Amino acid sequence: MYNPKSSKAEEFINHEEVLATLEYAEKNKNDIGLVNDILEKAKLRKGLNHREASVLLACEDPEKTEEIFHLAEQIKKDFYGNRIVLFAPLYLSNYCVNGCVYCPYHLKNKHIARKKLSQEDIAREVTALQDMGHKRLAIEAGEDPVMNPIEYILESINTIYSIKHKNGSIRRVNVNIAATTVENYRKLKEAGIGTYVLFQETYHKESYEKLHPTGPKHNYAYHTEAMDRAMEGGIDDVGLGVLFGLELYKYEFAALLMHAEHLEAVFGVGPHTISVPRVKPADDIDPNVFDNGISDDIFAKICACTRIAVPYTGIIISTRESKALRERVLPLGVSQISGASKTSVGGYCTPEPEDEKSEQFDVSDRRTLDEVVKWLMEIGYIPSFCTACYREGRTGDRFMSLCKSKQIQNCCHPNALMTLKEYLADYASPETKAVGDALIEKEINNIPNTKVRQLVRENLIKIQNGQRDFRI
Ligand code: SAM
Repeated sequence: MYNPKSSKAEEFINHEEVLATLEYAEKNKNDIGLVNDILEKAKLRKGLNHREASVLLACEDPEKTEEIFHLAEQIKKDFYGNRIVLFAPLYLSNYCVNGCVYCPYHLKNKHIARKKLSQEDIAREVTALQDMGHKRLAIEAGEDPVMNPIEYILESINTIYSIKHKNGSIRRVNVNIAATTVENYRKLKEAGIGTYVLFQETYHKESYEKLHPTGPKHNYAYHTEAMDRAMEGGIDDVGLGVLFGLELYKYEFAALLMHAEHLEAVFGVGPHTISVPRVKPADDIDPNVFDNGISDDIFAKICACTRIAVPYTGIIISTRESKALRERVLPLGVSQISGASKTSVGGYCTPEPEDEKSEQFDVSDRRTLDEVVKWLMEIGYIPSFCTACYREGRTGDRFMSLCKSKQIQNCCHPNALMTLKEYLADYASPETKAVGDALIEKEINNIPNTKVRQLVRENLIKIQNGQRDFRI
């Protein structure tokens, strides 16, 4: 039985409810009256349920599709303005005991180089990341209770926060590690993590079990109920995601929204972010063996429908996607992107020889952070290195209420400008600096509150004079 409030995976991601949703969407996708009603509801900016959003995703009418894209752009502008938050992944270890058939870290892969960073290695990687200008990391590790126990992850987080190189510092560490216990989530919370990210990969139980044939990740319920345990452990910013390509995208989309509805129903707060990765080529992995690859058009529509369905949830696009595709989906609701990413263990310091590759997948966007920052500004965005919210205790429902009260323009917008100014002062090339300084001068006028505007002006001068880390 479908029950969004249940603590059981098979009840809150109920297979029959997903199938009924797909049937409903298929039956109604050309009912223009209904599509219009759903679009009207979406314009209230309070989101849509999984059935309504699935009708929009299924709708093939070109005019209505245009309207969907247009509305997603409007909602993105209203809630997130033109800021894009930047981050980088940091791979700690690729030792893994699981058998995930799409991932090169799977246990049976004997030709990938297995690596695990020591605390000294981490210090070097973090220094390299700080030297690029990064302030926000997502740490990644394979699942291996012996090689990568929770104590190793906690020690690594401590090391990352402790490195202060020149004006650099990592101010927010998000964590993408395998599903774990309430006790371990509590320890992660105490270590000061930002978001706990765990991709579901697929919500389709039968496929999930086939795609994860061996290892602890095989347990569908344990994996799907991980965010409930994370919330119980005190982590109220959680990041959902599906690995598109593994199963039918319409199934995944409906189930992903059901997961968000479940978190909202039980904990009163939906997911902080949603990631939309697609399967990429990797060592021992050919993405073409998975039948459910999605086109760029469908990918864009998924982004737009997600933006409309959950207006308060950030959308993340990684360097798995190309510059061109990232540019296409940015206006549709994306709020965070990674830049200059390496998916190899130790890859920021040491280029790997051909016969010692440890990377997780091929990245498509290989530009430097400076190039990404300049590009964002040239196409109308403010690159943001802001990490203020969780450091000010604005997590979970407190962050959501900031969004809902439309105070973002007096809070996130100034923080974006001040952290961009730090980046320009410390790390940017002269060309990027020139573009950025002009942008800040223009954007400062878009801070509605006069007192805040004045404060930001003063802080920008202080940053120019060498002070760092201002936030609202
Ligand atoms: N081991 C952890 C877990 O089980 O969730 C950490 C996550 S892993 C380092 C990060 C994510 O990369 C996975 O959740 C998966 O969705 C994604 N991934 C794995 N193989 C991939 C591939 N070939 N192409 C694109 N993404 C992939």
